[in-house]
Amino acid sequence: MTLQDTAPGSIRDILQRLPREGLRFRCHPGVPCFTECCRDLNLLLTPYDIVRLKSCLALDAGEFLDNYTHVRWDEGKNLPMIYLKMQDNDRSTCPFVSSAGCRIYADRPSACRIYPLARASRMNRRHGSVQEDYYVLREAHCKGFDEDRLWAPDAWIADQGLEIYHQLNNLWMAIITHARLRNGSLSEKQQQMFFLASYNLDQFRRFVLQSRFLQAFDVPAQEVEALGGDDEVLLRLAFKWLKFSLCNEPELTLRQQ
Ligand code: SF4
Ligand code: SF4
Repeated sequence: MTLQDTAPGSIRDILQRLPREGLRFRCHPGVPCFTECCRDLNLLLTPYDIVRLKSCLALDAGEFLDNYTHVRWDEGKNLPMIYLKMQDNDRSTCPFVSSAGCRIYADRPSACRIYPLARASRMNRRHGSVQEDYYVLREAHCKGFDEDRLWAPDAWIADQGLEIYHQLNNLWMAIITHARLRNGSLSEKQQQMFFLASYNLDQFRRFVLQSRFLQAFDVPAQEVEALGGDDEVLLRLAFKWLKFSLCNEPELTLRQQ
């Protein structure tokens, strides 16, 4: 089964296999459609997207969630997903777009970075490896396809700074696609844990540092030292905690009491 079979109906018609020679594309302020794609979007945010955005805006994660996002329970999923709220204007524009382009370009979400590619990834749970396939979202309004720059998918991923996003998004994907979460229904408390560790990282930091968390779990001293200021280290710990608590995987070790 390919992404073209499983993609939502809204994008199935514009999804094409990546041509053998690669992606012919270039987006720059000179294209006639500049910023046309930054409106009316269903823009799913991953935990790492939220970390980058709230840091760029110098907001606490909770403030960012309140001001810029809405929560959706997608059909058939029993996990809350976070979407960027479009502005309440006649074009439903992204809150970060300006006539000069994206105001938070260096920290734009993974979905904006990868466009116009679409990534289908499958996780091999036994080996922990991820297999990737790339497609092209060929939207009629996008004139970037008329440009002459040719990209191999790897070169596009590197150019868009996506490696770190893919690394952390893969860790999260291993949680949300885990059989225990996919098939079972979570209690209200488990849903709160999922929300806290996935999205409200500053609140999760307070929980880790101010509760008995570090007495209960054996976290390496170097990691503990970094937790106060390093969101990436904290997010990796949050994912381990979710794996341990919700997926019953031995990602964390309980201290001998
Ligand atoms: S529609 Fe395509 S070419 Fe135009 S600004 Fe968006 S990504 Fe760039
Ligand atoms: S975050 Fe930036 S690139 Fe993404 S839709 Fe908004 S303005 Fe466009």
